[in-house]
Amino acid sequence: MKVIEPVRELVHGEEHKTSRKVVFMAYCKECRFFFPIPQDADDYEPGKGDCVREEQDDKGKYWLAKPVMGEQDAGKCGFFIKRIGG
Ligand code: SF4
Repeated sequence: MKVIEPVRELVHGEEHKTSRKVVFMAYCKECRFFFPIPQDADDYEPGKGDCVREEQDDKGKYWLAKPVMGEQDAGKCGFFIKRIGG
């Protein structure tokens, strides 16, 4: 989804709308770590998925998984990486 926000700048001490900035909103369903839950699964809900990320500590690699909704705002998530190819 694309949101267009006005950009405000100070000109001679006064605030003016001078241009527009295009801000792209991201959703969990666009993230490479989002995996939709299959329709035949017990916890299936439309739009629901699992966020599955690989982590590593001194003992080795492991996976973190948590349920997320595809329409969840990913803008505040520091792990978001855009999925390549849709
Ligand atoms: S919670 Fe973060 S890492 Fe997980 S699917 Fe959403 S944006 Fe991606």
